[in-house]
This record gives sequence, structure tokens and C-alpha cells, in this order.
Amino acid sequence: MSDPLLRVRDLRTHFRVKRGFPNPETVTVRALDEISFEVKRGEAFGLVGESGCGKSTAGRSILRLVEPDSGSIEFDGEDVLRADKARMRALRRRLQIIFQDPYSSLNPRMRIGTALAEPLLVHGIMGKAEAAERVRDLLVEVGLPRDAGIRFPHEFSGGQRQRLGIARALTLNPELIIADEPVSALDVSIQSQILMLLRNLQETHDLSFIFISHDLGVVRYFCQVMAVMYLGRIVEKGPIPRIFDEPLHPYTVMLRDASPVPDPTARKAFERIEGEVPSAINPPSGCHFHPRCKHATELCRKVYPKWMEVDAQRGVACHLYDPASGMSPKP
Ligand code: SF4
Repeated sequence: MSDPLLRVRDLRTHFRVKRGFPNPETVTVRALDEISFEVKRGEAFGLVGESGCGKSTAGRSILRLVEPDSGSIEFDGEDVLRADKARMRALRRRLQIIFQDPYSSLNPRMRIGTALAEPLLVHGIMGKAEAAERVRDLLVEVGLPRDAGIRFPHEFSGGQRQRLGIARALTLNPELIIADEPVSALDVSIQSQILMLLRNLQETHDLSFIFISHDLGVVRYFCQVMAVMYLGRIVEKGPIPRIFDEPLHPYTVMLRDASPVPDPTARKAFERIEGEVPSAINPPSGCHFHPRCKHATELCRKVYPKWMEVDAQRGVACHLYDPASGMSPKP
């Protein structure tokens, strides 16, 4: 089996923020707490959880758009956190991101053709004429007219803008794309089109994805492997069919039951999830999920559960998982 393309180990990102008025105090937001996972070449890896679980921070930490406090990130054997500016620039050619709102990252005064050609020129990959031709090819590849480059961002619909975001991510021929809620702002019919486009591109370019989403239906459609995050930590990880057929963590059960069908057009996730995600500034003692867990025991309230490898593909962090039987209690 080939080595993973990306290896994340014990990654921790905390933010120090000021809170309160008129005498603000500095508090720590534990956005990401020692998460570990791997992504293989050509694999789509889903990071799933409710808002505030740390999944977007994970994506930004991998790209060093925010600086992690500790842990390691290895991309194709290279230590990302030790990369200097020049190495990071080279790595960013191979690691790209698609945002939920591509409009916010497009310069409204710049024609799309110019915006898409910019990275090719900045990295000195090709000259102006060749870059313009490459942009036209990219536009067609993402399902836009070949001459769409003469238009400005406001002239495109929401779905078309996401196609532009995808085109921009593809410009430098990356190997791994971090897609951060790429379809959650779109109508359901457009969602399906964008997901199909991403899947085609994954196959054509042998791309790997980290697909960040709060919607299990979308992740089930697009990914092969997933990790479920809760309050900055991964609580369960494994191949999609096994997680859906036999979830081991009570939170995964809750998420799955809130999104029981794989068709992302059929319903929205989290309709029936009860309770709120606690604050990452002051997480609950012990297992952070215990205030919402109907299986919680005294031990759960006091001690955070250890991560247990179920087998080479799966792992879970829950006191009630029984390694002898390989089972967790049924909800
Ligand atoms: Fe629930 Fe306890 Fe498992 Fe946490 S450790 S998910 S509280 S059973």
C-alpha cells in the first residue's frame, strides 16, 4: 500500500482572544485539540461536525493560514510546519483550498480571466498568452463558457461562482484540495451539480480531497473515509460504509440519524440533533460530549476517553466502546 499523501499528527491550534467589557480578559479558544488522520492519494476524506467543532480550523491549519501550536503535518514526506517561506510557496502550489463563499476571495474589480491567470504568472509557470489559454481551458473544464474570463465576479450566479472557486483551485494542478463547506451556501439542485463536478475532477486529475462539511449526506455521497469532530477533537474515524452501518460513537449515531439518506437533495442534516455544542473556551469536563450523551456515566463526566484503534482503518474515543466485543452500546 502506498504511503499517505498527507499525514496529520496531534495537531493543536488554540486561539488567544480578548473577551469582556470594559475590562477584557484574554481567554483561550481550544479550536483544535490534537487531531490525527491521514489522506491517501486519490482519496476524499470527510471532516464532519456541527458548527464550531474545529473542522475549518483543521483545514486552515494544514495550509498554515492559521499557525498551529503543536503537532505535525507531513505532505508527501515533507514537514509542512518546518517549511520556510519559499518551501511553503512551493507547497501551496500542490495544496489548494475551495471556500464556502468564493465571492469573498475574488477581487470584485478584477476580470475573472485576470484573477485566474494571476497564480500562473506569479509562480512564473507560463507567459501571458499561454496562461490566458490555460484559463479558457479551465473555465470549460468547470462547466463555464470559454469566454467567461472577460466578465467580473458579480456577473456570475452563486453556483457559477463556486465553479470559479474550483477553477482557481485547479489552476496550479494541485494534488490535494481542501474543500471547506463548498456546497452549503447553494440551493440543493446546484449542490448536486457541483458535487458531480468535483467527483469528475477527482477522477480525471487523481485528486485527493479533505472535504469539510456539516452535512453527512453530502459527505456520504462524496467521500470514502471520514472523521467525526466534536469540540476540537476527532471522536470517530473510518471508512464511510462502516461508519454509517455501525457507528461506534453516540455523537456519530446522532449525526447519522439526523441525516439518514445519502442523497444530499433529500433533506438537511441536523434537523433532529438535540442540544447545543458547548463553548470551546470552557469545554465540559471529561468527555466533552457528556452533557448531550444519554449513555454518560460518572467516568464520562470526569475523564476524557482514550483514542482506541478498532483496527487499521477505524478508531473511536468513547468509554463505552468495548474492544473485546468491538461494540458500543446501541442508542
Ligand atoms: Fe457518551 Fe461517555 Fe462515550 Fe462520551 S465517553 S460519548 S459521554 S458514553
